[in-house]
Amino acid sequence: MAGVARFRKGILRAALATTAVATAGAAWTGSYVSSSDPVEARSEAAAAVAQRMVSADWKVPSRSMQEMSLRGCTAANPLDILVIGGGATGCGVALDATTRGLRVGLVERDDFAAGTSSRSTKLVHGGVRYLEKAFFKLDYGQLKLVFHALEERAQILQNAPHLCKPLPTMTPCYEWWELPYYWVGLKAYDLVAGTRMLHLSRYFSKKESMEAFPTLAVKNSLQKTLKGTVVYYDGQMNDSRLNIAIACTAALAGATVLNHAEAVQLKKDPKTGKVIGARIRNNLTNKEFDVYANVVVNAAGPFCDEVRTLADGKESHIISPSSGVHIVLPDYYSPDHMGLIVPKTKDGRVVFMLPWLGRTVAGTTDSAAALTMRPEPHEEEIQFILDAISDYLTVKVRRSDVMSAWSGIRPLATDPNVKDTDTASISRDHVVCVDPDGLVTVTGGKWTTYRSMAEDAVNAAIKTGSLRPGQDCLTHELPLMGAYGWDPAFFTVLSQTFIRMKRSYGGKIVPGAMDSAAAKHLVDSYGGLAPRVAQIAQEEGLGKRIAHGYPYLEAEVAYCARHEYCESVVDFIARRARLAFLDTNAATRALPRVIEILAAEHGWDRHRKKMELEDAKAFLETFKSARNAQFDDGKHSKMHA
Ligand SMILES: Cc1cc2nc3c(=O)[nH]c(=O)nc-3n(C[C@H](O)[C@H](O)[C@H](O)COP(=O)(O)OP(=O)(O)OC[C@H]3O[C@@H](n4cnc5c(N)ncnc54)[C@H](O)[C@@H]3O)c2cc1C
Repeated sequence: MAGVARFRKGILRAALATTAVATAGAAWTGSYVSSSDPVEARSEAAAAVAQRMVSADWKVPSRSMQEMSLRGCTAANPLDILVIGGGATGCGVALDATTRGLRVGLVERDDFAAGTSSRSTKLVHGGVRYLEKAFFKLDYGQLKLVFHALEERAQILQNAPHLCKPLPTMTPCYEWWELPYYWVGLKAYDLVAGTRMLHLSRYFSKKESMEAFPTLAVKNSLQKTLKGTVVYYDGQMNDSRLNIAIACTAALAGATVLNHAEAVQLKKDPKTGKVIGARIRNNLTNKEFDVYANVVVNAAGPFCDEVRTLADGKESHIISPSSGVHIVLPDYYSPDHMGLIVPKTKDGRVVFMLPWLGRTVAGTTDSAAALTMRPEPHEEEIQFILDAISDYLTVKVRRSDVMSAWSGIRPLATDPNVKDTDTASISRDHVVCVDPDGLVTVTGGKWTTYRSMAEDAVNAAIKTGSLRPGQDCLTHELPLMGAYGWDPAFFTVLSQTFIRMKRSYGGKIVPGAMDSAAAKHLVDSYGGLAPRVAQIAQEEGLGKRIAHGYPYLEAEVAYCARHEYCESVVDFIARRARLAFLDTNAATRALPRVIEILAAEHGWDRHRKKMELEDAKAFLETFKSARNAQFDDGKHSKMHA
């Protein structure tokens, strides 16, 4: 055993040393060894995959190579699995299957995470809400959901520590009975979490609560006085960046992943009636081609009924779409490192207010919705969130403070035989079903449980296609791209090693500091690969920020185009950087420069640049900030007239 541990430790050290040199190249003069040891507890098979990820010259295959490789998957040379949908679930399936040694392709009609997976509350949660139901309804099924989510939460935090962090969240109590109620409930959550607990929950007196959350109201709207709070921990993530890390890790491990490629038709064997592939349209070129596979996995999230209909022409009703809206407010609405949850607002709903990427995210709503890739928040939904949080804050809550607002569609999976239109009461657990024509559909669940959903779907695909994987599922112990070499203090190394070379207004390239804000942001977004981005900033004169007040650098646009399949301006402002979600005004202002850099990377002509600008503006119109809101609060309408 000690020998195996030494072997693993050796791999880690070699890997980190290689990463350090490879990532920073000539600029890197020091050595850096992470104090965490992610490989130590892992299997040798996982370590071997990880080794590939950190080899000095790794690069994800180019988009054209990926398309060529998919085109080569003919009826005589089929893939083992073709995945439709590049959200968290589909990318999870691709990663799981490829690391088991299967031949996998994935097509995503828009961008990775363009659907629900970039529009979540960003919580990696152990399902504290299910625990309440488990105890009060003595429902073992709900308790199992909690155990399951806690296990998956622990694994996400372990496998992508740069993108997911524990976040303390405060529950304010304005009635005496609430204190023991929430304290006991959250202590039970700690107990159920056991070794997977992030930190102990604890009671905060009124004074401590005010120190930790200065904008918390001492009296709520019902004139009840704050009695104290109970603070517990869950994980918080950068959802679309995590999704992209899963997609790129899958690509690095051998999967052929292609964004902006849509399954427009499913192919069936005329003799057996089984699904044997799909007709794919490259949405950037409009060219179509066929891809054959032994099994097709439908991971199209809220759109999975559409894909099932492509297979058999019949209407499918697995999904009850429900939309959830979030709004983004300035940083002063919440402290840097403390969230707020109101488990029951005066109209009985749950509301969160969480610090995220230097701003405050508040949400959410739950209402039946029509299916669209670009859902828009309604004014009443935004107003509902503002009203709900204003009951608990001393800050004057203003509609004009909304910097961005977005809507996402939950893929709530229902049993078609149960008639239930109340979306809030449907279980969030996932569904894996295999149709008689062999199409495997995986949907429902949560972001937090994407990995185990993928594992179940791959197991079903293996059974359906009698596939022969080389090994068992590895993903529970597989670090994602960027995890190696990451350490909470890594930003200091970046700050001390690199400078940001920037083009001045006069056109000269001048040096600037890699300040802590930029270094922290790079490390939190790219983990151990941050030096690669910093090196572009330093050596290619792309060290300027793309938006005032935000840490995003021009170098990131080039890096994402080269290494993260960033194919459009919306891919960058919404999923690689989160500017569209944080501040639609800042995102709009950044468009010309982002287009310029992407045009240089991808060789776009004037027509394409114009189209990109138009599409990005249309996209940002669906994010209802104060700028594009249809409302009148007197002061605000004058400001923006
Ligand atoms: C408001 C809200 C808040 C949430 N908060 C949380 C949270 O805090 N924590 C948590 O764990 N979960 C949360 N969730 C749930 C979580 O976000 C989803 O369960 C998860 O993102 C679903 O991922 P998915 O891959 O199944 O679907 P999606 O992300 O929607 O991916 C499906 C993809 O399939 C693609 N597609 C569709 N048709 C085709 C086709 N024909 N060809 C190719 N591609 C196709 C789409 O473009 C899309 O990108 C939240 C959900 C919502 C709506």
